Amino acid sequence: MKLLEEKILSCGTVLPGNILKVDSFLNHQLDVSLLSELGKEFYRLFADCNVTRILTVEASGIPIACFAAQHFNVPVVFAKKGHHKNIGNDVYTAEVFSFTKGTSYTIFVSKKYINPGDNILVIDDFLANGQAVLGLKKIIEDAGANLMGVGIAIEKGFQNGGKEIRAQGVNLRSLAIVDSMTDDSISFRSDD
Ligand code: 5GP
Repeated sequence: MKLLEEKILSCGTVLPGNILKVDSFLNHQLDVSLLSELGKEFYRLFADCNVTRILTVEASGIPIACFAAQHFNVPVVFAKKGHHKNIGNDVYTAEVFSFTKGTSYTIFVSKKYINPGDNILVIDDFLANGQAVLGLKKIIEDAGANLMGVGIAIEKGFQNGGKEIRAQGVNLRSLAIVDSMTDDSISFRSDD
């Protein structure tokens, strides 16, 4: 998506450790008109998937998921991050290894907010090694719901997540795929 690529080029910065920092429009300050366009594009890509719920993970996935949900007219559920001790039993859980923090954490979703037979669209801000998406996929499977697709704003195509998730047959669509990045250049995979 050209608009997102241009925004990444003008406002994104590359940090050591293959981190793309997009705090000025996606991860801290939010560019609401851009988010609105991302939401529309996700609707265009997944409109025929009969989506009944959108699932994301706190915190940065939430605003993108909300803008998409307005078009699908379905609720957004966000997986919370927590520690095993205070979670309780009425939840689905998954372990996720965080690429940015270098540690594992538990994500959980109340059994009240995901039903067997739900058609779920997963939305997130970034895809790196795919751990967050795979955790959400496990929760969907544990709930007996259906994973209809995964919509990612920025995929880092030089990391393994996209390859692994597509190899599992998941309908994964990313609005911008970064093929390579250095301190002073970012290049994108061109659309098929
Ligand atoms: P994964 O689970 O795919 O390895 O990593 C995805 C999660 O890590 C995203 O939800 C995002 O929060 C974070 N993340 C991974 N890579 C980056 C990055 O380059 N920049 C930012 N801002 N977040 C990232």
